[in-house]
Amino acid sequence: MAHLKIIVNGYAKKRPGYELASPNTVLIFDGTQKILVDPGANKRLLLKGLKKEHLKPRDIDVVLLTHYHLDHILNIRLFPEHDIYDGDTINRADKIIGYSGNIPRTNIKVIPTPGHAYEHCSFLVQTAQGKVVIAGDVFWWSEREKQKTDRKSLLKKKDPYVKNKADLLQSRKRLLAAADHIIPGHGKMFKVEK
Ligand SMILES: [Zn+2]
Ligand SMILES: [Zn+2]
Repeated sequence: MAHLKIIVNGYAKKRPGYELASPNTVLIFDGTQKILVDPGANKRLLLKGLKKEHLKPRDIDVVLLTHYHLDHILNIRLFPEHDIYDGDTINRADKIIGYSGNIPRTNIKVIPTPGHAYEHCSFLVQTAQGKVVIAGDVFWWSEREKQKTDRKSLLKKKDPYVKNKADLLQSRKRLLAAADHIIPGHGKMFKVEK
């Protein structure tokens, strides 16, 4: 069974004329592998979070991305030699390798979750606490919003960056059916009401 830890708390803050945002960055320990999901855009917080785990970027085995928004991916600069995964492709420098289902050599399941972004995917991890889904921006909140996690509020939550509303709704339903706990892109982890 894997275990995981949020090593950077995701945030999205409005400022006059700009926003400050970096996602929840999750470290998964699966067997001997250390897997980092959404390294984000805040270098200082990422290095600090890794250091707390006595890790440096080179100690990470694999980097996973939920989608291509820059606030989720800028820190891949710290992992130039690493395999970088999205929902169906592994990039190793200029080499491109397709895959499907699970992250190879792990029990991490990839769930396609388009809507917020076309390429968006989520990662399901079986832990001692149950099924935890790293949902990226299928669900996210800015700091000013109250994080309502009843099913109705979750399904109708507006996303100013949505690409396809119908797809996003389906993706949200898919994750609520699959997960015991959800880690959103920005905001706090929450338990799924059953
Ligand atoms: Zn996004
Ligand atoms: Zn985001």
